Amino acid sequence: MSEDKPVLINNDFPPQAALLWNKIPQDKQQLILNNVYCVQCCVAVTMVNISGLLEGSSLVLKGSCGVCGGHVARVIEELN
Ligand SMILES: [Zn+2]
Repeated sequence: MSEDKPVLINNDFPPQAALLWNKIPQDKQQLILNNVYCVQCCVAVTMVNISGLLEGSSLVLKGSCGVCGGHVARVIEELN
């Protein structure tokens, strides 16, 4: 195991959203970010330029497709 660097992300993460995100183990964070469905590529892609927000008790990740640059989003509902 090398150094675990947090899978964060940029300053567009509000503190409350970051709090939820940081509860997720890093390997799972990576898994989430590397398996985002892109409607344009029609495959699971890696999300880049990630920002996050809270919608109710769900954490919503928004970003760009690492392949085509299109908008992708992922809702994480299992957190509350
Ligand atoms: Zn794409």
